Amino acid sequence: MRNNSVTTAVMTAPGKFDVRQYPYPEIDHASLVIELEMCGICGTDKHTFRGETVQFAGTPAESHTPFPIIPGHEIVGRVAEIGRTASTSLEFSGQKLLVGDRVVMCPDILCGKCYYCKNTFGFPLCEKVRGYGNAFCCDEPPHLLGGWSDYIYVRPDAFVYRVPDELDARIAVMAELMAVTYNLDKAKELYTMGGEGFGSGGTVVIQGVGPMGLMHVAKAHILGAGRIIAIDRSDYRLRFAKDFGADDTISLNGTTQAERVEAVRALTDGRGADVVVECTGAAEAIPEGLEMARRGGTYVVAGVFADVGEIPINPHRHFLANQIRLLGMTNHPPSGYVNSMKLLARYRGVFPFDRFVTDEFPLNQIDKAMERAFDIDRAMKVVVTPSEG
Ligand SMILES: [Zn+2]
Ligand SMILES: [Zn+2]
Repeated sequence: MRNNSVTTAVMTAPGKFDVRQYPYPEIDHASLVIELEMCGICGTDKHTFRGETVQFAGTPAESHTPFPIIPGHEIVGRVAEIGRTASTSLEFSGQKLLVGDRVVMCPDILCGKCYYCKNTFGFPLCEKVRGYGNAFCCDEPPHLLGGWSDYIYVRPDAFVYRVPDELDARIAVMAELMAVTYNLDKAKELYTMGGEGFGSGGTVVIQGVGPMGLMHVAKAHILGAGRIIAIDRSDYRLRFAKDFGADDTISLNGTTQAERVEAVRALTDGRGADVVVECTGAAEAIPEGLEMARRGGTYVVAGVFADVGEIPINPHRHFLANQIRLLGMTNHPPSGYVNSMKLLARYRGVFPFDRFVTDEFPLNQIDKAMERAFDIDRAMKVVVTPSEG
């Protein structure tokens, strides 16, 4: 007999949590319910926790976190209950879903009707995009539209993905971050345009090797980068990056910006890197990263998913004289999950993916979980698991 009340970790305001009970949701024929196995704490959740609560700033999709919310969107769980038509309509690649199947879900709900939904594909520029764990106030039914919850209600307009049998939950939880690395696929495509981006053997710098940066290190390796340089302030994370395929590491500790730029040049025949990826979530990293790119190189902004303010940039120097192409990514592609999980399965013997999740906390210990997630010297990916007690 299923417990009729569902335990959730609710963020009531920046930095404030409350463990709350909500009723188990009623489903209709086109929706389903996931029973949580684990849900990551993502950089986006940390932005919200710090009070950086504006997303998609300055666009029609601009959103301000509607507290209280159930955060969490790196969701892995088992289908607990499924509507009659949902078994064939909700799985992205068309697989039939049964109760008990392990799934991940894309947090983004796209409207399907706006200019961007109809005219752009893959990277969701949707004017009405709303994300699980970010954009839904949990005061209103069905309440359970975030991952830090024993059960998650999946709307008929969401995308879920059946997890290949060979992936356990601790690896499947990386699917969304691996989908975020599709900006490196974009950068690689540019190589055919006058040698922009990077070709096989090219050099990629990753600024910030927390969970998202680490996935970019692995993906650069998979895509054939010849040299991968990781930058971080945590020696623990830099060692992790080496295990995930980085060749060289540069610490922020005891170095100046000029010294770090010089170090990248020294490793790239004096030119700078073909591609530099920002995975720090800090605006200050961007001018430094632009200095690390070679002329005609590519700079990818991936980490600043919330509005963290402005930073001066010299447009002549970077974009005209050095002709650096800037790639931003409003979000990750929903189409990326299937292949991301194929990559995770294929490369799990090459990279120590099983070490990616370093800490698990039941969701009623959310304060401890969040504190650990900010501890860059001892945690990589921290996840919450079903409530205890
Ligand atoms: Zn995320
Ligand atoms: Zn749309």
